This record gives sequence, structure tokens and C-alpha cells, in this order.
Amino acid sequence: MLGADKHSQPSGALMDRRLFIQSALAAGASAAVPAQYGLAASFSMLTEVAGDFPAVSTDRKPIMLEKSDLQALSDSLRGNLLLPGNDAYDKARRVLNASIDKRPAFVIQPSGVADVRHAVRFASDHNLLVAVKCGGHSFAGKSTCDGGMQIDLSTFRHARVDPQSRTAYVAGGSLLGELDRESMAFGLATTAGTVSHTGVGGLALAGGFGRLGRRFGLALDNVKAVDIVTADGQLRRADAEQHPDLYWGVRGGGGNFGIVTSFEFQLHPVDRQVFGGDVYYPFSRSKEILDFYREFALTAPDDVYCDLMLIRPPGGEGAVVGMHICYSGPLQKTEEVLAPVRKLGKPAVDTMAVVDYVRLQQSWDNTDPRNTGEYMKSGFVNEFPQALADLLVEDVEQHPERSLFVMFQHGGGAITRVPVDATAFVHRKVALNSFASVSYPLNVDPAVHIAFIREYWKKIEPFTDGYYTVDVADEPQSQVHANYQANLQRLREVKQTYDPTNLFRLNANIAPQDSG
Ligand code: FAD
Repeated sequence: MLGADKHSQPSGALMDRRLFIQSALAAGASAAVPAQYGLAASFSMLTEVAGDFPAVSTDRKPIMLEKSDLQALSDSLRGNLLLPGNDAYDKARRVLNASIDKRPAFVIQPSGVADVRHAVRFASDHNLLVAVKCGGHSFAGKSTCDGGMQIDLSTFRHARVDPQSRTAYVAGGSLLGELDRESMAFGLATTAGTVSHTGVGGLALAGGFGRLGRRFGLALDNVKAVDIVTADGQLRRADAEQHPDLYWGVRGGGGNFGIVTSFEFQLHPVDRQVFGGDVYYPFSRSKEILDFYREFALTAPDDVYCDLMLIRPPGGEGAVVGMHICYSGPLQKTEEVLAPVRKLGKPAVDTMAVVDYVRLQQSWDNTDPRNTGEYMKSGFVNEFPQALADLLVEDVEQHPERSLFVMFQHGGGAITRVPVDATAFVHRKVALNSFASVSYPLNVDPAVHIAFIREYWKKIEPFTDGYYTVDVADEPQSQVHANYQANLQRLREVKQTYDPTNLFRLNANIAPQDSG
């Protein structure tokens, strides 16, 4: 199983002895709550106390939390403290990749910044393993954990737009759909990812490629400020003036420095109507389409966004090569700009049309790996040589029996015009974010599928330069560090300042400066 840390899971007997604290809201049955706790000021309610409580520390060693400490934490919250045994706990611990099946000791669903601070202080005081979940899209399941505290920000979703200053204020647990919808109501937008139920938190702290990225840069290039609860439980505002080192670090350093409770995004005027959709061709045309794509994607104007997909279903029957396009420039120029695509002739499938931008942002919402396992390898491609195109085609022809999804997400444009040291995101030459993934049913042994993708990726990897930190799985620390390239040293200094004990480590982890 991907990134699993099974050794840290408390035994079943211990699990059974756990406290059972659950939200009356989550349980949907306030009548079940013992009368002595009433409906007082808190949504968190104690339904059963069974003694001290097993958990795991940041270095995955078993620890015991005292009942009174957990009780005090529960009492300090306005939001929920969820334990195994209720549906809300099970929903929270799950992430999009259904093969990840981890069980936190307990889950906090904060109602606001105060709750986040209480939770972080508690974790810090008890040296407790912490996972932070926003949209739950981490492929490797970094937003859940075995035996630790999961802070589930799904109760923390809200976006507000100030059209005058073209700023979106977005709560730290929000999904991209909330940002897009509220912004476009004012004819404004900023770069967000291509699936609307991806979390703003995970995406905008690590990068944020999307349909507008070539015009406005990565999502993180548009982050003007964050409110962040750092490992000491303090709330800090980080922007160009206040804590500029932290502001630099959060834009590419992922969740390494704390929990972002609020983002401020720069918005840009964008026409609501754009031209976009998918075109698919039979796989027999893949060589021709890849040759076209290499030229087209790398020389396109900034308002053209074009992904390439190679899709081989299990058994190989019905393999296709396709492109996803979003043209967000003046609509009257669409035919001229996309004439090269039209020259490829009639595709087998063509959904391209004038479309509402927010709808296009939702058009891939059902293409995710829900209800299946998923394993992927990824890397940034700065150039697309003929040899890479040939390799991709040959491989699909040679191994028709295996399912495979290969994608090149369009980078370049404004993303590459930001200096390497302006933010912590170092991979500024990126023309395409490439990945290869396999989906598999949950009832099969994933080993064979994982091995296949790893083997496949060995051939692609020489054409890549680093990888997207959101895709980090079980790579050794030295490799994770190497991927931060020229920005590593400065990132370690920021980590040392704001999280010297490495409380926030379930991510593309940066070891603090003093840790050798
Ligand atoms: P989660 O699993 O909830 O969180 C991932 C990590 O982010 C956490 O472990 C934590 O370290 C950190 N984190 C999350 N929220 C916070 C917060 N508020 N404060 C501090 N740390 C936090 N990426 C792109 O760039 N462009 C795309 O178009 C794109 N499309 C995708 C489509 C799908 C279907 C999927 C599964 C992923 C896609 N990704 C894309 C990758 C995506 O950006 C990452 O998986 C990202 O981590 C998802 O963020 P999340 O909040 O949903 O994830």
C-alpha cells in the first residue's frame, strides 16, 4: 500500500478501549449525548470515557495520551473531536485515493482559528503525529495517518471576494470550486487546478498548475498573504512585509510550516466564456498527435492551455490519445488560434465549445480515482524531445495488457517567467508536468500495478527534471531534499525558525536546519 505506515497502528484491543467522543452534529443525534454534558457552548460532546488513549508520536513510536488531557482538548474546542466508531470519523480519515486506509487516533474538525491553535498546541505538547487534510487529494495519503491526530479542515470552507482590490479571501480548508465560483461572479479568476474538488490548501502551497497558469503563473504565484498557525500554536500573517521568510517558504514548501487558515489570492479579469473541452483520437494516430503536441504546446500563446493524455484501458482495447484545451483569449480569435488543432482532422470525440469557465473547471470532476486504488509517478518536463515521444508510443504498443494513464499538464508561459528564488517553488523551467498512473480495483494486490508504473517510469525519468512535491510518496529524505534544488538551504532555515521539531512532517518534508 502506498506510503502506508502500518507499524504505527494501535492494536485492535487498544482501539476498542478508546474514548468515544463525537459531535452531536456529526452523529446527527443529540439525544444520544449524556444529559450531564448538555448542549452547552461546545459542539464537541463526550459520549463515553474509557481511560487513557493510545496514539503515536511524530517519530511513529507508541505513546499514551491521558484521558484528562484529551478531555481538556475536547473542552477547548468549538468544533468536533471525532473518534473511531462514528461515521464522521470514517469520512474524515478517508482520502480520494481509496487504497489509502489509515486510522488516525482521533480527528479534529476545527470551527475556526482558535480550534486550530488548540489542536496544534496539543500535538506539539504531546509530540503527536499530525496530518492536515484539506481536499484529501494527496495521492500518497499524506493528509491522513495511522495513530496520530488528523486535522480535517473540511469544516473550514469559505471564499469571499473584494472586487475592488481583486482579492479573494479563502479559508484554509476550501476547495477550488469555491474560489472559482465566487471569483467569477465578479468576472475575476486566478489560477486553480483542473478538478474543482481539489483542496486550495494542498494545491496552492505546493504549486498549482491549471487552465490559467500560463497567463497568471501558478496558484502560489498569486498568493498575496496567508494566515498560518505555526508549530508553536501562534497565528502569523505572512506576506511581503510580515514574516517575509515564511511568506517565501509557504509558496512551494507545502504544509511544512504550519496550517494555513486563510489565503489571500490576487485575482485577474477573465472572460466568463472561454473555448475549451477535449478531443480524442484513436491510438493509431498517437505518433502524429504527439509530434503535433510537442510543437504546439511548447510554442502556444499564454492564453492557450493544452494537456495531452494517453489512455490505455486494461487489455489495451480502445486506447486513445487526446488533448484537453482551454483557450481563454478573445473568442473571436478562437478559430485562428486553434487552427493547427483543426488541421489534425476530425477527432473521434470532440467536446470543444464555447463554455462557461466555472463549468469547464468542473468538467473533469468525475475523472478521479474514487473507489479504486491509484499509483503514480511524476516529473517535470522542460523540453519534449522526439525520443520521449517515440518511447511513449512504443511502450503502449508493446504492453497492451496493462492499463495506463499518461498525462502532460501544460506549464510554461508566466510560470517560467518568475525567478527561481522569488518563491520556494524552484522548478521554473517547467514546460509540462508529466505523470503516469495506474488505477486498480481495491480487491486486488496492488504490488504488480505499482511495480509496473515504477518500471515504466524508469524509462521516462531521464527526460524529467525534478517532480511536483504533491506527488511525493515514500521517497528517501535525501531525494525529497534534492528535489528542492537551489531553494533547499533557505527552506531548511525557514523550517528551523517556524517548525524546529518538525511537527508538520506528513508532506514533502523539509528537515529543520539543525537536524544534520
Ligand atoms: P490534501 O490531501 O487534503 O492535502 C495534501 C497536503 O497539503 C497535506 O498533507 C498538507 O501537508 C497540505 N495542506 C493541505 N491544506 C493545508 C493547509 N490549509 N495548511 C497547511 N497544509 C495544508 N495539482 C495541480 O497543480 N493542478 C491540477 O490541475 C491538479 N489536479 C488534480 C486532480 C486530481 C483528481 C488530484 C487527485 C490531484 C490533482 N492535483 C493537481 C494535485 C493536487 O494539487 C495535490 O494532490 C494537492 O496536494 C491536493 O490538495 P488537497 O488539499 O486536496 O490535498
